[in-house]
Amino acid sequence: MGFLAGKRALIVGVATDRSIAWGIAQAMQREGATLALSYANDKFKERVVPLAQSLGALTLPLDVSRDEDISAAFAFIAREWGSLDILVHAVAFAPREALTGSFLDNTSREAFQVAHDISSYSLTALTRGAAPLMAGRHGAVLTLSYLGAVRSLPSYNVMGLAKASLEANVRFLAADLGPRGIRVNAISAGPVKTLAAAGIAGFRKMLSRVAQAAPLRRNVTLEEVGNAAAFLCSDLAGGITGEITYVDAGFNTVGMSFPEDDAAD
Ligand code: NAD
Repeated sequence: MGFLAGKRALIVGVATDRSIAWGIAQAMQREGATLALSYANDKFKERVVPLAQSLGALTLPLDVSRDEDISAAFAFIAREWGSLDILVHAVAFAPREALTGSFLDNTSREAFQVAHDISSYSLTALTRGAAPLMAGRHGAVLTLSYLGAVRSLPSYNVMGLAKASLEANVRFLAADLGPRGIRVNAISAGPVKTLAAAGIAGFRKMLSRVAQAAPLRRNVTLEEVGNAAAFLCSDLAGGITGEITYVDAGFNTVGMSFPEDDAAD
């Protein structure tokens, strides 16, 4: 029996079979969870529905920028399941022109607002919808962050600010919901080639820098992020809340590293 047997999980953020949320969905289903996958709009519906069917998951529309979608999504979960154990938030967006070049020159008021609304506020809004369905059930909420929350990185720009907000969001939600037995955590994942990542200028270079410098000398896989997510949302992680857990081949821990053949010079 898997370590998520009997759990019901709503996973927000599957767009393709390369999405981090898809890695999480696969790991959670393997460990016995029953799933519902949302899609952001009709464009993604066509891709998400067959993926969901392959895991026996329910599907539902959910654009996190629309309060009425959020209410309808949790009403759907309440009707279908009556309760919820796990919420996965794997959603981020900023206008493409803000994810390149100079942070100072390319961060408009609108890009700032959109990035924070879709990438951070949506965690608060979704958790507000999920919490009543998690009453008395050891609920778990998980979101996805990136190193740009705590370090500057080329092109990540306003998304770094939104991720810093998201990480604070995790701590404040954990404090609010802890007394109700609900845990809230984040995984800060190393770079993974996905649709969202393709919007960041120079992303391929980031992948190769990580593979050169990280202690494990490689990038992480969807499966590794999925496994860590499944663990953090399971009762095995019952004592962990308010944490940002790095799944990044150790890259964030390194101050400096030399390529293997230079190390002896
Ligand atoms: P992805 O493109 O597969 O997923 C991003 C998801 O956000 C998509 O499913 C998209 O539909 C959804 N989304 C965007 N706007 C939305 C809206 N208004 N309503 C509902 N959904 C919306 O890319 P991904 O890399 O798997 O991203 C998932 C999460 O992982 C994001 O928070 C991202 O910042 C984070 N992350 C990604 C990486 C990476 O290198 N890919 C690294 C660390 C963290």
